[in-house]
Amino acid sequence: MSTYLNKAMPETARTLENLNFDNSYIRLPEYFYQRVEPSPLEATHLISVNPEVARLLDLDPEELDADSLAHFFGGHAMLPGAESIAMKYTGHQFGVYNPDLGDGRGLLLGEVVNQSGERWDLHLKGAGRTAYSRSGDGRAVLRSSIREYLAGEAMQGLGIPTTRGLCLVGSQEQVFREQIESCAALLRVSHCHIRFGHFEHFFYRGRPDDLKRLADYCIDRYFESSKAAENPYLAMYQEIVSRSARLVALWQSYGFVHGVLNTDNMSILGETFDYGPYTFMDTYQPAHISNHTDQQGRYAFDQQPGIVHWNLSCLAQALLPLIPREALEAELEGFPGQYQTHYLQRMRARLGLLTEASDDQQLIDDLCRLMTQHKVDMTRFFRALCDFTDANSMLESLRLFVPESQELNKWILRYEQRISLEAASIPIRRMQMRSVNPKYILRNYMAEEAIREAGNGNYAPVDELLLLLRSPFDDHPAYQRFADEVPDWAGWIELSCSS
Ligand code: AMP
Ligand code: MG
Repeated sequence: MSTYLNKAMPETARTLENLNFDNSYIRLPEYFYQRVEPSPLEATHLISVNPEVARLLDLDPEELDADSLAHFFGGHAMLPGAESIAMKYTGHQFGVYNPDLGDGRGLLLGEVVNQSGERWDLHLKGAGRTAYSRSGDGRAVLRSSIREYLAGEAMQGLGIPTTRGLCLVGSQEQVFREQIESCAALLRVSHCHIRFGHFEHFFYRGRPDDLKRLADYCIDRYFESSKAAENPYLAMYQEIVSRSARLVALWQSYGFVHGVLNTDNMSILGETFDYGPYTFMDTYQPAHISNHTDQQGRYAFDQQPGIVHWNLSCLAQALLPLIPREALEAELEGFPGQYQTHYLQRMRARLGLLTEASDDQQLIDDLCRLMTQHKVDMTRFFRALCDFTDANSMLESLRLFVPESQELNKWILRYEQRISLEAASIPIRRMQMRSVNPKYILRNYMAEEAIREAGNGNYAPVDELLLLLRSPFDDHPAYQRFADEVPDWAGWIELSCSS
């Protein structure tokens, strides 16, 4: 039985006042975190609540009222049972180790165990200053909070592991970023807030006992099956490597650029974590940099698999007191192969290929090259491909948004040959392809429009996008414009870390 976890089970629907908290992280030694309560935001109001996430916590969305949500998650009162802490972690930022990190503006309010026994972290982002705020104000701005809230749902809709948001609270309080902006708070809900950087902290501080304590906690909570292994820590690391490989393969398959892949933004569960200046690309550009302050392109789209690999090597380094070096190196060596397997698997599915042929990789690589060369909208291209019947009619429909090119024509002919080897009928294949090729994706301009409207006090677009992105594979005729050509101004949007 775990030292930290109490798996009590509630039997009825809950309210905010009686959530089933069981806070395990706070039972670790006090220097793993700082106990600190949220600082109330001025004049708060509810912007949006996500009914699906409410249900994860056994809350009845119909019973939630806006004022209570704004009250509790605007930091005006503690939820009964919550015990808020700022977690200590460190990490490599842009390749450089920074020992001074930690929750500088987000607080872990506690852990809720739902009726199915699932344990969810409740983390309030934008909750005010902590011991780890350095020179920061402890706040999050409305713009980036909306982006994180929408991104969680968009990822969830695509089936990519992610944190999500229960609700978004707005406020009259203002802070300065690149300009004056209004503050907000996001209640982030996730299985896990433990980052690679949590382990780095104890390694670089020279505290192997605490490193072991943290690893034991993670195994108890997340990697129970590792306990049976000869070296449970190695088994845990293997699991982290394989989840991270799968995650980045999914990002690469859908044109997602995280933007700030520092080791403190890497969840040990392989979930997309800490959304900042991220982008789902419109046109496919391997060199795309999502964060305009990342001038070297360290975190450009095509760098991500290599960077996740590098981040895993930082984690390996931190685990050296628990795992033999050779075993860690062997795992790291296996990463590119694991990544490639996941990537091929998803890209094959996106192309409607259920069987494997030896030149599939080449077919995919050539498509990526062509999409780059001709600035093809990736999401629209794959969605159009779902309707493939023959090369000629496909080329005709592609003509609507892809420039004519001999090379592309040739690729479509190759594809026609390749797809003819598949057994599925056209309608079945179409259905299968539509279940992995979204019609809608969270494009920067869509988030930008919702942010602009929210600035004018109109929050309806946030809720509309939340609903749309939850089922991106379905047709939503009322939102057809989001599946059409992106507006010109979409290309001018600039994103930065200042959030
Ligand atoms: P991020 O870029 O959001 O991943 O944050 C990197 C580090 O800076 C983390 O330790 C954050 O807690 C901290 N941080 C970011 N923004 C603020 C802020 N406005 N106030 C205090 N700390 C912050
Ligand atoms: Mg972060």
